Amino acid sequence: MSALAVATGAVNLGQGFPDVDGPGSVLERAAAAMRAGANQYAPGPGVPALREAIARHQQRCYGLAWDPATEVVVTTGATEAIAAAILGLVEPGDEVALLEPYYDSYPAMIRMAGGVRRPVTLRAPDFRLDVDALRAAVGPRTRLILLNTPHNPTGTVLTRAELEAVAAVAIEHDLIVVTDEVYEHLAFDGATHTPIATLPGMRERTLTLSSLGKSYSLTGWKVGWATGPAHLVGAVLAAKQWLTFTSGAPLQVAAAYALDEEAAWPRQLAADLEQRRDLLCDGLAAIGLPTVRPAGTYFAISDIGALGWADGNAFCRALPARAGVVAIPVQGFYDPDRSAEENPGRQLVRWAFCKRPEVLADAVERLARADLSGAAGR
Ligand code: PMP
Repeated sequence: MSALAVATGAVNLGQGFPDVDGPGSVLERAAAAMRAGANQYAPGPGVPALREAIARHQQRCYGLAWDPATEVVVTTGATEAIAAAILGLVEPGDEVALLEPYYDSYPAMIRMAGGVRRPVTLRAPDFRLDVDALRAAVGPRTRLILLNTPHNPTGTVLTRAELEAVAAVAIEHDLIVVTDEVYEHLAFDGATHTPIATLPGMRERTLTLSSLGKSYSLTGWKVGWATGPAHLVGAVLAAKQWLTFTSGAPLQVAAAYALDEEAAWPRQLAADLEQRRDLLCDGLAAIGLPTVRPAGTYFAISDIGALGWADGNAFCRALPARAGVVAIPVQGFYDPDRSAEENPGRQLVRWAFCKRPEVLADAVERLARADLSGAAGR
């Protein structure tokens, strides 16, 4: 879809990357680190200053105390943390219960590890956790529950009650929870993100993943991390050894600076994003597209059935020519083994609102001018 946006000159609300870079002071810190000679292999678990800054961040934001020497590992983006966690913890035949729709690296990595997916489906229009579905997805072969909150692509922020239900299942079945919290700071309307590791009985069984990319609008840096008890962090480290061995040294120095010295930056970003979310969602509602106003992330989902479309793929392929805008079909985030007809995301499309307000306003205007009726495009 990004290639289509470039080819057609369309406004790209498909891929989720901000169009303004993160804090200048952090960019300067990276350049200074390079000039000062931080250019050779970093230690495998990460530069000590960054591991310490991550531990301070978890303590400051959530009251979670981790030992930077054994309970924190730096990865090449959250993507490597996901890969290393699954490869390190899932053996062939193990089952993984995970929220569907899923970020696309989850099913890929579970398959690479020889594991088996057990989807727990979040359904339109509210995309809440169905606790009975979670219970039904867990059985004797389940090794871990893979969570993502705030959740891409639905924008759902799991409530404390939902997390308590997940925790109860994990404790009852003695499961590990791996939780992808890359959007931890991007929650709106006063909603707060609760790491499941903070719930009673969860610290010892939870591996928490995050990264610098979303919180600091530095998605291209690919600096991520995992925190948790030493036995789980050790599993990540063991797999990481054979994936990248070590992650980019000067960016780690700058990431430590960001977490310590630019701690307020993500809060301001979230406040800005909340306004942009409203700009986009109001604009979509005005053209007759029912859109879920997300509580977190920088994605919003619309149901295109209201415009007479049945298939998000067809809609997103037609959209650049009709309106000069790119969106992403949500059906690709649901399980790859589902047939098109039974895909709960068939009529859903995702818009990214991590773009400058004038870009979003332009996109909304283009959509308002276009003929988006779907009778001919079904
Ligand atoms: N998890 C989720 C849910 C994401 O949306 C993304 C980025 N799109 C990632 C992980 C990847 O993070 P990173 O860029 O730090 O590898």
